[in-house]
Amino acid sequence: MPELSGIGVSPGRAAGPVLRLAPPPSLPPPPAVVDAEAERAAVRAAVAAVAAELTRRADAAAEAAVAEVLRAQVLMATDEMLTDAADAAIEAGAAAPHALAAALAEHRAAFEAAGGYLAERVADLDDLRDRLVSACLGLPMPGIPSPGHPFILVARDLAPADTAGLDPAVVLGLVTAEGGPTSHTAILARMLGIPAVVRCVGVAGIADLTVVSVDGASGAVAVGLSPEEAAAVNAEAVARRARQSASSGPGRTADGHPVALLANIGSARDLTGEVEGVGLFRTELLYLDRADPPSEQEQVAAYAAVFAALPGRKVVVRTLDAGADKPLPFLRMADEPNPALGVRGLRVARRSPEVLSTQLAAVATAAAANTADVWVMAPMVATAAEAAEFAAACRAHGLPSAGVMIEVPAAALRAPAILRDVDFLSLGTNDLSQYTFAADRMAGDLAELLDPWQPALIALIAACAAAGLEAGKPVGVCGESAADPDFALVLTGLGISSLSMAPRSIPAVRESLAAHTLEECRRIAKAALAADTPQAARSVVRRASA
Ligand code: PEP
Ligand code: MG
Repeated sequence: MPELSGIGVSPGRAAGPVLRLAPPPSLPPPPAVVDAEAERAAVRAAVAAVAAELTRRADAAAEAAVAEVLRAQVLMATDEMLTDAADAAIEAGAAAPHALAAALAEHRAAFEAAGGYLAERVADLDDLRDRLVSACLGLPMPGIPSPGHPFILVARDLAPADTAGLDPAVVLGLVTAEGGPTSHTAILARMLGIPAVVRCVGVAGIADLTVVSVDGASGAVAVGLSPEEAAAVNAEAVARRARQSASSGPGRTADGHPVALLANIGSARDLTGEVEGVGLFRTELLYLDRADPPSEQEQVAAYAAVFAALPGRKVVVRTLDAGADKPLPFLRMADEPNPALGVRGLRVARRSPEVLSTQLAAVATAAAANTADVWVMAPMVATAAEAAEFAAACRAHGLPSAGVMIEVPAAALRAPAILRDVDFLSLGTNDLSQYTFAADRMAGDLAELLDPWQPALIALIAACAAAGLEAGKPVGVCGESAADPDFALVLTGLGISSLSMAPRSIPAVRESLAAHTLEECRRIAKAALAADTPQAARSVVRRASA
C-alpha cells in the first residue's frame, strides 16, 4: 500500500475516505463600477455578515483557545484599516469583492514580510478573504464539507474558522500539505483530539473519496485501504480511546512511582474533566488584543477562577510571556529585527517592572483566597542571577514556591546554580528546541530540528533532571514533548517529576506510564540518551517499550 509521510502533530489513528475543503470563491472579471456608494455599502455588509458568523462560532466554541483565535479573526475583519483600504480600491474603480480581495492581499504581504508568528497567521487572512468575497458574491461560505458520513479532511492548511467547526465524530482525521508543528491546525487538532498530520508531501495528489489511514503520532498516511482495513483501524482506535478514558487517577509507573500528569491551560475554561493539577497556566490570554494591561482586580478574578476549580491541587502560574510569537500591543515594544532573541518573557520586566509586580500581587491575592497549591514561574530565564531576582520578587509578594522555565540552553547548562535559588524547574521544550537548534519554532521546514527526540535536546533535559535529583527539587516538563506517550517514558526514566500537557493528551500518557516500571523507564532513557539520531532514539525506545 503506498504510504505518504508528514509530521504527526496530534496522536491517534483513524481511517476514512478523503474529502477536501469547499473551494475558495473565484473572482469574476472586474465589472465597470457605476455606483461607488453601493460598492462601499456592499463591503460593509460583507464585513458585518462575516464578523457576525465568526462571533457566533466563537461564542459556541467549547475550547477557550478556539474562541480566542476566532475573535482575533473578527478583529482583523472589523479593523478600519481593512475597510479604508477597500474604500481606496473602490475609489480607484474596483467593485466590492475585488476591493476586499485587494485590501486583504495588502495585509497578507505585510504579514508575510513580518515573518514568525504573523506569517503563520497568513492562513487566517486567506480564510477571511474567501469569506468576505463569498459574502459579497452571495455564495455559500467556503469550509468543511458535510457529506453525511465521516471522512478524513485534506487541505493545504486550515484556518481557525475551519478547525473550530470540526466535529470529531465526522472529521476522523486531518492531513495538510502545509503548516508546521505549531500551526493552528496542529494546536487545535490536539485540543479536539483529532489525529493530524501536517506537511504531508503528496497529499494534494490523492483523489477525493480514496480511503486513507492517518497516524497522528508517526506522521504516516497510508493510501488505498479496503473498507475492512479502514474499519479495523477505526475499531482499534475506538477500543484504545475507551481503554484510556476508563483509566483515571494520578500518573504512576507500573510499580507506583508517581509522575504528576498536569494540564496546560490558558484560562479556567480549558479545565475539562478531572486533573491532578495545572503544570502551565499561560497567562497571556488575559493580555491579548488590548491597548492597556488588565487591571490587578481583573487579574485576581481570572487567577482565582482557576485556583477555585482546583482546591488543594497544584497550579503553576507562568508570569506573562510576551514578545516574539506572542506579541502584545500594550507593551508598545520597539520593533526588533529578531524578536525571538529580543526583549521577551521575563526580559520585559526590565523595561516594565510594574507589569510583573502587578501580576505577582494579583496571583498572591488570588492564592490567599483559595486552597490551591500555587507555584509561580518565569519564562525565558537565561541566567542564575535572573532566576534569583525573580525568586526574590515572588517571595516579597508572599508567594512561597518560585521557579523558572528552562527554555534557553544557557539556563539548562546552569541548572545546578539556578536550583540554589529557586524551588523548581519546568522545561519548556518548545522554546528549548528552538534555541538549542537555532530553528524558528514556527518553521515547518525545520521540523526535524525541532524534534524533541534530537540527542542534544535529550542531553539538556537529562542534565536538568540530574540537577533536580541532586538538589532534591522537582523538575517538570511542560512543552509539547511531554504529551508523547513514548517520550514520557524517557522523561520519567531521566528523573522528571511531572509532565504537563493539553488535558486531552493525559489519558494516553497515563496508560503508557502504567505499563512500565521505573526501572524499565530508566533503561529506556539510557537507550534514548545513547542514540545518535531522533529516528534511532524513537525506534530503540519503541522496541524497548513494546
Ligand atoms: C515551551 O516553550 O515549551 C512552553 C511550554 O512555552 P510556550 O509554548 O508557551 O512558549
Ligand atoms: Mg516557551
